Amino acid sequence: MSTEVTAPRYAARCKYLKMTMGIRAGANLVNLCTHIVRDGRDCVGPFLDDHETHCGLWEPKEAGAR
Ligand code: SF4
Repeated sequence: MSTEVTAPRYAARCKYLKMTMGIRAGANLVNLCTHIVRDGRDCVGPFLDDHETHCGLWEPKEAGAR
């Protein structure tokens, strides 16, 4: 029997996610992936409440990370 506790796989809680402002004036927040496989491209998301990502690269942020 496993006692491992798994966190929900929310894209917003991925250790590879980098939220930043777009480069154009008036641009909104953009969600970039810093994983070596996807480096610099948009995160696949989704960024909806209670919707986990299906991204196979997802890993949880370390405790205390923002
Ligand atoms: S694309 Fe995947 S690995 Fe990259 S930030 Fe989003 S969930 Fe994380």
